[in-house]
Amino acid sequence: MGSTLLEVRNLKKHFPSTAGWVKAVDGIDLKIEKGKSFGLVGESGCGKSTLIRVMLKLLEPTAGQIFFDGQEITGYSFKEMRALRKEMGMVFEDPHLALNPRMTVFDIISRPLKIHGLARKKGDLTVQVVELLQSMGLQTEHMIRFPHELSGGQKQRIGVARALAVEPQLIFLDEPTSALDVSVQTKILKLLEKARQERDLTFFFISHDINLIRVVADIMGVMYLGKIVEIGPKELLLDDPHHPYTRGLFSAVPEPDPDHSITEIQLTGEVPSPVNPPPGCNFNPRCPHADDRCRVEEPEFRELADGRRVACHLY
Ligand code: SF4
Repeated sequence: MGSTLLEVRNLKKHFPSTAGWVKAVDGIDLKIEKGKSFGLVGESGCGKSTLIRVMLKLLEPTAGQIFFDGQEITGYSFKEMRALRKEMGMVFEDPHLALNPRMTVFDIISRPLKIHGLARKKGDLTVQVVELLQSMGLQTEHMIRFPHELSGGQKQRIGVARALAVEPQLIFLDEPTSALDVSVQTKILKLLEKARQERDLTFFFISHDINLIRVVADIMGVMYLGKIVEIGPKELLLDDPHHPYTRGLFSAVPEPDPDHSITEIQLTGEVPSPVNPPPGCNFNPRCPHADDRCRVEEPEFRELADGRRVACHLY
């Protein structure tokens, strides 16, 4: 087992609203090992993006603890986080919005190098930017372009190059390819994996797309209504998902291997509101196995003999 790079314990983020408290993230326990690629999957609105923003401390947690590389960072000030942010990069969903339209590619990529004092001696900054562009399959000439002169795939490569510039240990990727064509997605994922291998990076992907997580993750987590319901090595979850929600989610996706099928569960009903979620197991209104216990008692997030963790009274 490798060493833990990022850990959260009982992490919560609740927002006030006119209808009550929105429990966007509601008691997450998670450990990410160094050098691994973690993929968190869940439907839109389940709290994935909020979780990332709380872990990066772009949002203050309501409760719980965050540790990075063995250090508790929960109470870090903005200034303390600024130094640490160099270690944690972020690639956003929409490359069209993520880049400042008034800056050239050179300015976009060199900016974090300057902010964090990582620019090599004068003149070499250009070399650094060119190296980063080349690592993402782009050419020197792209340096003088503005974002509107680039395709969606090129913009996302610039977004990744910017994240790589400060040589972080961990990169968060929020639906990094969902705005792109399938052929472009594949190229970007290959470049990301190459960068991960070469730079010994740790990735934290979030997506609603199981097929993306299937390709990129070593470890997979499934999130539902502010909580993680199942987590474990990707092969375990894909071959034999345990939690009824995981089974329902995976059943809805065409299986690439026709010889392999899981016991299907049809997800019915709407996802309940994160304002006053159902008592007990929050999946109980949609679960075909729900019984009286499920309606009053929240299941523990339990580790099973095969190494996965599941939050369900059936296990
Ligand atoms: Fe279904 Fe009960 Fe398990 Fe929740 S705890 S997933 S309601 S069986």
